[in-house]
Amino acid sequence: MPCAFVRLSGCNLRCSYCDAAYTWSEPGRERSISEILQWLEKYPGVLTEITGGEPLLQTDIHLLIKRLIDNGHRVLIETNGTLSIADVHPQAIIIMDIKCPGSGMSDKFYRQNIKLLRQRRKIGCRDEIKFVLCSEDDFHWAVDMVQRYKMHLLTDVLFSPVTNLFPPKKAAAMILAEKLPIRLQLQLHTLLWPGQKRGV
Ligand code: SF4
Repeated sequence: MPCAFVRLSGCNLRCSYCDAAYTWSEPGRERSISEILQWLEKYPGVLTEITGGEPLLQTDIHLLIKRLIDNGHRVLIETNGTLSIADVHPQAIIIMDIKCPGSGMSDKFYRQNIKLLRQRRKIGCRDEIKFVLCSEDDFHWAVDMVQRYKMHLLTDVLFSPVTNLFPPKKAAAMILAEKLPIRLQLQLHTLLWPGQKRGV
């Protein structure tokens, strides 16, 4: 679906495949919440996704989410799962990108977030868990996580193979073989705008 990205700078991880390294290797530009709201007026009716970097590092992130929701935006927030989601607005949709071993960052996951996702589910939140997969090893690690924490009963689970490392066709066959209700997510930006590093 059409989506306006609010991409915030700074990240506490250094994933091996990071395709947004400029968010932490280059200085960001300060923007007030009013300026962000004004910019979004150019894209009426589309989803608003807050991403990074790691957006939960920003001091005013919860105020930004509240202002967006109060102004009628449907808000998604993508987070790398290493910081607590306890204070995230219940009307925002969290996309929790749990890092697999291929990222080099899998030990940084804040496991208490599983409990918090469960609590959000009980009050009607529709969050998502995503695993970006670099290899078959990542696939098996992710399946183990899904099964151990029964994540597929908790929220929608997406497997997103890194296009040039793990063929999506292979990932699809493996999902079918496991018979788990996992959604395959293609890296649309790499298919639609190949080679374009920014602005997608
Ligand atoms: S969490 Fe995201 S922005 Fe941060 S290093 Fe990993 S891929 Fe890059």
